Amino acid sequence: MSQTYSFFQSVEKSFDKAAAFTNWDKGLLEQIKACNSIYSMRFPVKMDDGRIEVIEAYRIQHSQHKTPCKGGIRFSDEVNQDEVMALAALMTYKCAIVNVPFGGGKGGIKINPKKYSVYELEKITRRYTAELVKKNFIGPGIDVPAPDYGTGEREMAWIVDTYASLRPGEIDAAGCVTGKPVSQGGVTGRKEATGLGVFYGIREVCNMEATMAKLGLKTGIAGKTVVVQGLGNVGYHSAKFFREGGAKVVAIAEYEGAIYNAEGINEEDLFQHRKATGSILNFPGATNLAKNSDALELECDILIPAALENVINKENAPRVKARIIGEAANGPLTPDADEILNAKGALVVPDMYLNAGGVTVSYFEWLKNLSHVRYGRLEKRFRENKNLHILEQIEELTGKRVSDPERKIILKGAEEVNLVHSGLEESMIAATHEIMEIWNANPEIPDMRTAAYVSAINKVATSYMALGIFP
Ligand code: NAD
Repeated sequence: MSQTYSFFQSVEKSFDKAAAFTNWDKGLLEQIKACNSIYSMRFPVKMDDGRIEVIEAYRIQHSQHKTPCKGGIRFSDEVNQDEVMALAALMTYKCAIVNVPFGGGKGGIKINPKKYSVYELEKITRRYTAELVKKNFIGPGIDVPAPDYGTGEREMAWIVDTYASLRPGEIDAAGCVTGKPVSQGGVTGRKEATGLGVFYGIREVCNMEATMAKLGLKTGIAGKTVVVQGLGNVGYHSAKFFREGGAKVVAIAEYEGAIYNAEGINEEDLFQHRKATGSILNFPGATNLAKNSDALELECDILIPAALENVINKENAPRVKARIIGEAANGPLTPDADEILNAKGALVVPDMYLNAGGVTVSYFEWLKNLSHVRYGRLEKRFRENKNLHILEQIEELTGKRVSDPERKIILKGAEEVNLVHSGLEESMIAATHEIMEIWNANPEIPDMRTAAYVSAINKVATSYMALGIFP
């Protein structure tokens, strides 16, 4: 008999599957799974027409094994407590996997933001923040929200402003939320972070000789064929970094259709073409595919679903030919599709780890806020002067002059964006190796998703043990 699970229960199910490959005490595992603090609230907001509307909202802190908690705030009609609990739990595991020292949290306001004026949205966001302040559910050392569906820089700027006015003199107030505009304490490099993280993660997997041999692929990213679904934030940047990294993006799908070009597609040209014509179809040099979902079934090395959830399911999974499926979107594979692709010997690189670039860079933003200084401000000029000195010495000793383009590269000191990218690269590479080591050490672990969960469980359990709650 098939059983249906709520979103939170299905996260618990994946957790239990992975927990079976660990030796942690049963009670400790129960504690890790549980949602620690649930704040379900209702508050009134006066709308533009004078009506008072009661707003339903949540903030849930899944785990405080490390503080602050971290996770986005979603504005959507679909928001409910179970969904926010599940998303908060996933944040705990995601942060642990990429070694971001936060517990998991998530927030949600049950509204369709398209149905409200900007002024109404501002009132709702500010009131929500005030409610969080009253209950001590927000703060740079307590719980740090970020954007999610339906929210962005604008809402984060309202949140930090409200928080700072209610906590006058709090020197670290800017660190109460991430995803802020750069002018309000945001960090450069946040916009492309998720797509770049996807690229770094897949590139690292492709650099693993044994893994590639198992898949029947050559080691390295160069020359690999890639199909990307979605030309939004994550899809666009994934395509850009794969192309720049030497792979060939042979097809791109959007909701209006899909295009194919064996010679490769330039995502920026395509983006401009779509802006001008309203569609990705009829892009010069490319062929249109009959249906946008046909792109998912093309012959390619790497498939990057970066649009919606559940796009690969029981029906189309048997026809997916990619050897590597990189889950850039959240939940692009149904559990059935996951099983089918694993049984076919494909490698599914799981979302919880692969799309963690956003939260990783949020962590860097928070660090920037706590240090009150832009990355690179102190050392950039020092490094450039030093580099110049070294270069001049080399040129003097060898009697040769380095070419101008090379000189530019050697001399350059790091800007904020370079350091953010470098930190992201390090985080994704380290996480990939940790997951693969767990998987290699236990051949019983069926897939990379389970190995990623085991990695998360081990880290959270270790923290709890160190806290001394479970002597
Ligand atoms: P986005 O809205 O910028 O882009 C999504 C794109 O997918 C849009 O261009 C949309 O037109 C397209 N699309 C919709 N239906 C499609 C279809 N049937 N076929 C092909 N394309 C279709 O959103 P995003 O920020 O790029 O997020 C994409 C996914 O990545 C989501 O699942 C999101 O939860 C996940 N994610 C995003 C981030 C982030 O930092 N933005 C971080 C982690 C995970």
